[in-house]
Amino acid sequence: MKIMATCKEVSELLSQGQDRQLGRGEKLRLNLHLLVCKGCRNFGDQIVFIRAAMKRYVERG
Ligand SMILES: [Zn+2]
Repeated sequence: MKIMATCKEVSELLSQGQDRQLGRGEKLRLNLHLLVCKGCRNFGDQIVFIRAAMKRYVERG
């Protein structure tokens, strides 16, 4: 396993992380990549925002 995740892996981890608890190794690789990759940081912010908005929408019924 490479230390450095690719943008593709990171985008997958970000969306999976919304549905399940990521392992320690996965989190480490995710955070390492986010430290150096602005594109994936933006993507992460968006996915969290969208998920939170959807959750509010669903909870409101
Ligand atoms: Zn990236």
